[in-house]
Amino acid sequence: MQYLSTRDKTLRLRAAGAMAIGLSRDGGLFAPEAFPDLGTLDLKVLGAMSYQQRASFIMGKYLEAFGTEELERFAQRAYGPDRFDHPDVAPLHRVDSNTWCLELWHGPTCAFKDLALQMLPQLISESLNKLGEERDACILVATSGDTGKAALEGFADVPRTKILVFYPEHGVSEMQRLQMVTQSGDNVGVCAVRGNFDDAQGGVKALFSDEALREVLREKGWFLSSANSINWGRILPQIVYYISAYCDLLGAGEIKLGQKVNFCVPTGNFGNILSCYYAKRMGLPVGKLICASNRNDVLTDFIRTGVYDRNRPFHNTISPSMDILVSSNLERLLFDLSEWDDQLVKKYMADLAAAGRYEVNAALRERIQSLFYAGSCGERETGTAIRSLHRDYGYLVDTHTAVAAKVLTGYRAETGDTAPSIFVSTASPFKFCDSVLDAIGVEPAGDSFQRIEQLEKAGGVSAPRPLTALRGRPERFRQAADRTDMERVVRDFLG
Ligand SMILES: *Cc1c(COP(=O)(O)O)cnc(C)c1O
Repeated sequence: MQYLSTRDKTLRLRAAGAMAIGLSRDGGLFAPEAFPDLGTLDLKVLGAMSYQQRASFIMGKYLEAFGTEELERFAQRAYGPDRFDHPDVAPLHRVDSNTWCLELWHGPTCAFKDLALQMLPQLISESLNKLGEERDACILVATSGDTGKAALEGFADVPRTKILVFYPEHGVSEMQRLQMVTQSGDNVGVCAVRGNFDDAQGGVKALFSDEALREVLREKGWFLSSANSINWGRILPQIVYYISAYCDLLGAGEIKLGQKVNFCVPTGNFGNILSCYYAKRMGLPVGKLICASNRNDVLTDFIRTGVYDRNRPFHNTISPSMDILVSSNLERLLFDLSEWDDQLVKKYMADLAAAGRYEVNAALRERIQSLFYAGSCGERETGTAIRSLHRDYGYLVDTHTAVAAKVLTGYRAETGDTAPSIFVSTASPFKFCDSVLDAIGVEPAGDSFQRIEQLEKAGGVSAPRPLTALRGRPERFRQAADRTDMERVVRDFLG
């Protein structure tokens, strides 16, 4: 199978090439040329498999150059019991007779990004071997919190890779900072940037387009690569859990084969929900794709009107991983729904870069609206959703998950749709202790670990081990740099 650039479909690469470089050289994203059909037979076969087997089976359909045994080995390592604290890896929690929550935070960093970032490093590392690439990959990441830690954990001690993460010095939570600066591994580095997330991200983007730096690195045997969700190797592993969740409902006798299930996804960069759309393209009986946003509701407006307009105030919310105004992966959806009209996609993206705005044509808008529903949830409503799930169902969720739960409720009220529905849980509530404590009426007190204990007590559940285990761990990385110094940090890091 080949992967086409969304801005020029004549630029095509096989999976290994696409995953090694991340972004196409014309600035487009790589999209698969076809969607392997699941059919009812596959769904039955998958039902009897473990999560790890499901992952290698589904991913194998897109990665012919990778052997079954190889993919099984990757999946065992990525989703094994030493990394995930639940045997189902991505378990469904039943909320009521018609509603489930898909918990994607049982991995080593307690956010859904582990599902992709435990797999991606192995895919990149093996891609380099398959391509006969002699240089090794240096992964640069700018993070506002969750991606950085998940990438560090995924790439730690992976052969032929090094990873350097930049985070805004005062822009991440104390727990997120601790998670990063205590990271183990011989090939990892973490550096604070004096500035906000845009400074860190702008700095990393500048490094990627710095030809002189690339030349120096090339001579030393390195090339730069990316671990964020523009990389196909992050989207692919996420398709698996949607299919897996459907198989689990089927296996439990909750639905009949072929019956449609709605998914409601808390959305930022549009990567997670895009994977759900791809699962539907493979024939998974998905009903409505429900796109949930917080106060940064650019996607809600887009899906409802066909106008994407980032010219609006940016809000810092209690669901920070969704605080984003440019959702990169939307480009892949536009490419697919326009039947690969690369010139159209290119024009929209040029409009976005120049004016911060584009409007899709009527045909495209109608297609999007027939597949997707969109809603947003304010700060107060997020807290209310946490409180009522806890009070009415004894179920504790984090702020991002609460946004999805609330938008699903709104969707049902507005449409009267009674189809079985799953809302996606993207982080452990213990990652956002303060906001969750606030929501359930407990005043946060003491340090990060005392707050975890407060939440354990109030919520009646234990905190994930990877968070409590941070207590007392030595802080390995104390470096802070100005944005203008980031290049030097990279050079020092690579030696
Ligand atoms: C990254 C993230 C999201 C947003 O996911 P996208 O794939 O960017 O849409 C939502 N919730 C949490 C907790 C995240 O870390």
